[in-house]
Amino acid sequence: MYGGKMEYEIVYSKIKNIYIQIKEEKIIVKSPPKVSKKEINKILKNKEDWIRKTLEKSNNKEEKEKLYTNEEFKNKVQNIVNELIKKTGLIPNKVRIRDIKYAWGTCSEKKNITISYKLINYTEPAIRYVILHELCHIKYMNHSKEFWNLVEKYMPNYKYIKKEFK
Ligand SMILES: [Zn+2]
Repeated sequence: MYGGKMEYEIVYSKIKNIYIQIKEEKIIVKSPPKVSKKEINKILKNKEDWIRKTLEKSNNKEEKEKLYTNEEFKNKVQNIVNELIKKTGLIPNKVRIRDIKYAWGTCSEKKNITISYKLINYTEPAIRYVILHELCHIKYMNHSKEFWNLVEKYMPNYKYIKKEFK
């Protein structure tokens, strides 16, 4: 979930060309056997605009009941951010809430964190998890073991909370 990086699933099958499918908000890459991940990444990068647009469309279909008002949500995010900055010592450059559909949150290399407005439908622990996740990307711009250890340090039950996003 960093830098708006796309997560996808590769399905290898005996076909001639690679093609990309968006299904229930997931990116599925169908590929002939023996195509390297590097190559697939390149193709995804070229198709990024199209993928994001398609993801947004597939996302717009489901309008859930909102848990909070816009104001409540904004305050909640701000409070959690402040609290977690104090706890972790990880300081973002900027934190914004935007209507991004392709991720719950992103963290850029400039330490700008964007929190998805989609989270307005989620519980406080879930919002807290996403904010913590993106804060930890300030230290580790990847999903390495060290990254997850850091998340776990401040949220020992994060694996359980993550399930809300499945
Ligand atoms: Zn991430």
